Amino acid sequence: MASLSLRYPDNSPGDFYVDTTCIDCDACRRIAPATFRPADDHSTVGRQPATEEERRRALMALVSCPTGSIGTVSRADARPAIAAFPERVDENVSFCGFTSKDSFGAWSYFIEREDGNVLVDSPKAVPRLLRAFRERGGVSTMFLTHRDDVADHAAFRREFACERVLHERDVSRATADVERKLSGDDTIRLADDLLAIPTPGHTRGHAVLLYRQKFLFTGDHLAWSERRGALVAFRDACWYSWEEQTRSMEKLLDYPFEWVLPGHGAWHHGASPDAMRDELARCVAWMKRRT
Ligand code: SF4
Repeated sequence: MASLSLRYPDNSPGDFYVDTTCIDCDACRRIAPATFRPADDHSTVGRQPATEEERRRALMALVSCPTGSIGTVSRADARPAIAAFPERVDENVSFCGFTSKDSFGAWSYFIEREDGNVLVDSPKAVPRLLRAFRERGGVSTMFLTHRDDVADHAAFRREFACERVLHERDVSRATADVERKLSGDDTIRLADDLLAIPTPGHTRGHAVLLYRQKFLFTGDHLAWSERRGALVAFRDACWYSWEEQTRSMEKLLDYPFEWVLPGHGAWHHGASPDAMRDELARCVAWMKRRT
């Protein structure tokens, strides 16, 4: 719950504000870019929403903020924004919203499949999401890309008895009881339409999930940079090995996909699998220059 007394002075005057508990995760800037902008080590309201749609997006950012750092002076009704999640990305893939502080505001995704729904990484286990998932058939599999984005995995397991999947190299005390531990560096077929591809680098046990050769869920391995207009990896947030991460990136050139759906950074829809492959090849070349 944001506090007016902690409001940053650089907020644009008006109803919406960001307070000093912001951890600068960037979720609000991606959900409501017309309203929120970066400022030093935090986000702030760059411009108050000017239209109903901008206001709706700003409220969706408010309810998704991992630290409750966004407020409105009017104490606006956030129920429509809560009901807006999960938000469809494309086809049967949705963005969950409700990011968790435990995952530093990382984004998570929900895939609705006839053979069982998949939750990729962990949002906050809020009642709205639990109900929405239940109404859509529950969660069969919870794919955890790496150790940092596991947040409320235990709550989802309790609620849906889902099989949690995590690479053994990223298992910690908090995830010691996950049902399926991946091992090695070879790609693992979880189902006809689901491939788990180990991508060590950001962490030792990082893995990405490829769904239907179209949607690549990339955790903290790969994202789109709007500033550079390119696919990127996070050199400053590489906790294990940049060289290894570069090799893992190169490995992805063997797989066709159109969407990059990351935990941090922007998502990206390529014009075609070939266009995405070209983007990825540029990213690999850029990473090699940064070694
Ligand atoms: S979503 Fe919240 S914590 Fe993240 S940058 Fe915005 S205000 Fe800060």
